[in-house]
Parts: sequence; structure tokens; C-alpha cells
Amino acid sequence: MKLKLTYAKCEEYRRIDLAWLKRKGCLHPGNASNLTWSLGGNKTGSINYRVETGGLRLIYRTRPSDGEWRDVNELVPFRWTRTRFGGQRRWFQCLSCARRCRILYGGSHYRCRRCHGLKYGSQHEPAYQRAINQADKLRKRVGGERGAFDEEPFPPKPKGMHWKTYQRLEERYDALQSGWAIGVIQRFGLYG
Ligand SMILES: [Zn+2]
Repeated sequence: MKLKLTYAKCEEYRRIDLAWLKRKGCLHPGNASNLTWSLGGNKTGSINYRVETGGLRLIYRTRPSDGEWRDVNELVPFRWTRTRFGGQRRWFQCLSCARRCRILYGGSHYRCRRCHGLKYGSQHEPAYQRAINQADKLRKRVGGERGAFDEEPFPPKPKGMHWKTYQRLEERYDALQSGWAIGVIQRFGLYG
């Protein structure tokens, strides 16, 4: 018998994007609210969240494959990396694999893209794929490897490159990353 392997597309999933929450001013400690997703006018999911000092607490009901509804209350830790100019960037730390990520996807639990086995549905969303390809080109210009889709931070400045040039490339990289993530969310109707 022939087995056909299929991968879910990221766009079909409920997601929690740190960059989006930040943009909406939702990341103040103590802030508590909910996120609701809908597709074609139908509600597809909803969770409550609370911003804590150490992470984002997610409170929701889930129904794994055994069919029993369960209450979930999980604290997804924040991790921080330094940016070039003395700032800090916030990430989620996936509760299953402990990898750093910017977006959590909902299945029965909210985890990183890799843990859900998600592949980017490039053939359906050429504009997003173009943004990722452009971002990867910027990574290569500073001596890095591909990694935009995996939300890798911009590689360090190579020797001999002017800071101004480097900063411009990094800003462009951030804008491309935000662009494709926000685009996906708007298209699939996340609002909170
Ligand atoms: Zn993971």
C-alpha cells in the first residue's frame, strides 16, 4: 500500500504571534484578554491569556484525539535575545521542544511550527514566500544562512561592513518578517 504524506499548511492553524501582540500593545505585564479566530465568518477557536513577567499564560479547553475535553493552563516562558543596539527581543520558548520561536500554533496544544510538522504553504501564498526569500537574501548578504521562515534573528554584522549598511539591512529584514506574519493573520481573520 502506498502511503501519501501530507503536511498541514500553517495558514490553517490558529496562531499566537508575539510580534502581533506587541504591535497591538497587548504585552504589558498583567494584561489579560482573549484571542478569537474565525474563518469565513465561523469561529474556529478562542483562548484566554494573561501576560506574566516570565511568560504568557494560556488558558483554554482542548479535546485531544481521545475525545475528552480538558482544561489547559500553561505558562509559555519568554526568552530574550540582545539586539545590536542595546535593546532586547522577546521570544516564546516552545513547551515541547524548548526552541525559541515567535509564533505558536494551535493544535490540541499551542506549540512551535516544527512541533506541529507545519510546512509553509508556498504554492498557495506566493507573496508570503517572496517575502521570506527576500529576507533570506538579506541574511546571505551579511554572511548568514537561510532561516527567515524559522524566525531566526538577523546574523551578526560581518567585519568590514559599515554599521549604517548593516542597520538598514536588519531593519528591512524585520519589516519583511513582520509583513508576512501579519499578512497571514489578516487573511485568516485573527483578532483579539
Ligand atoms: Zn516546539
